[in-house]
Amino acid sequence: MECLICRSETGHDCLAFCGAVICSDCEVRLMEQTADEPGYENQVQAFRQLWQKQLLAARDRHLGDGDCM
Ligand SMILES: [Zn+2]
Repeated sequence: MECLICRSETGHDCLAFCGAVICSDCEVRLMEQTADEPGYENQVQAFRQLWQKQLLAARDRHLGDGDCM
């Protein structure tokens, strides 16, 4: 799988949710980052897109077989 944020290959220690993964590096960055830092907006955007995708998918399936909600 590739990291949602930095697109690098992720290992076993990655954070996985809703069919996407975030590598440990990005996970740490996200946890420590504040909105003032450069790059934050990009990461928020990546999350927004993922959430929107998941939301639309869930709606299309009528909240059927989702494995993350
Ligand atoms: Zn990453």
